[in-house]
Amino acid sequence: MSWEENVRRVVPYVPGEQPKEQNIIKLNTNENPYPPAPAVEEVLRTFGTEELRKYPDPTVGSLIGALSDTYQVPADQIFVGVGSDDVLAMSFLTFFHGKKPILFPDITYSFYDVWAQEFEIPYETKALKEDFSIDPADYMGANGGIVIPNPNAPTGLEARRDTIEMIVASNPDSVVIIDEAYVDFGGESVLPLIERYDNLLVVMTFSKSRSLAGSRIGFAMGSKKLIGYLNDVKYSFNSYTMDRLTMAVGCAALSDHAYFLDCCKRIVATREWTKQELSALGFSFPDSHTNFIFAKHKTWNAKQLFTDLKAAGIYVRYFDKPRINEYLRISIGTDEEMKALIDFLKNYQQA
Ligand code: PMP
Repeated sequence: MSWEENVRRVVPYVPGEQPKEQNIIKLNTNENPYPPAPAVEEVLRTFGTEELRKYPDPTVGSLIGALSDTYQVPADQIFVGVGSDDVLAMSFLTFFHGKKPILFPDITYSFYDVWAQEFEIPYETKALKEDFSIDPADYMGANGGIVIPNPNAPTGLEARRDTIEMIVASNPDSVVIIDEAYVDFGGESVLPLIERYDNLLVVMTFSKSRSLAGSRIGFAMGSKKLIGYLNDVKYSFNSYTMDRLTMAVGCAALSDHAYFLDCCKRIVATREWTKQELSALGFSFPDSHTNFIFAKHKTWNAKQLFTDLKAAGIYVRYFDKPRINEYLRISIGTDEEMKALIDFLKNYQQA
């Protein structure tokens, strides 16, 4: 007998690399290449140090109020966490407490199976179709809950709102979590459906479209009942999840809607240009509605290309996993960064 027998053992999620070198082109973690809204800078310049002496508001009232105005959802239907990873982990812990397996796609955000293992939640993955689309019929059987990112990651492909609605409507006895981390880049949110389905939780983040990956702000919207249960678990874990400065930064980001829309528009335009260039170079990819492209070359080996790009100071993401090990996930950077990537590829020859 050793104390190690009582240890909770998990195989942790491995986040994308955050290299220390300067002057690299970083297209590996789907960050936004543009700075946060100017109002955020103002908060950082003027924030009073004295504020930090006191505990923050455990209800995250100011930020939830600003989210309520932005999304036109009542405050008691919004939950805020430290990045959507925190919101998702808390949701797994709260809603997936049954005996039946929870369901999610075989190719998806690689944190889901980590949380399932960590919280000892039984799970089953459902194979995406050959074109990486979701078959809603896979989600019609008995289950303990469902989680689907839409658009999906790392494929970038979006399921239509009626496909998601079919899944939500067919599972009134399960909580269905739709992870909309990438929805702001031209996707169609299922948020309007929370009025009709009390089992639907929509999760979003400030990390991508609002350029605040470094601040860690995520949120979920759903029925009052769902949010109530989430809060019960949160307050049983840590009442003060969000600090005062982050709350102020989040409110500032929401205050400039025009900046947000413009940023998303620029990224979508760069993405569409990059798609054309990649196609011309012999790449194929699911039609991305996100700030990344999941691309496969007709002859080049993806792992080798990943290594060669890295050596040239261009970081992308490679997943050495079945069905996707011939793909690279390329985040959308600035026009200049994408041009540098395309120029590299134009001159590239694989040994
Ligand atoms: N969901 C998906 C599908 C993601 O790709 C990510 C980013 N790694 C997240 C959630 C988490 O993002 P964050 O915690 O930064 O909000």
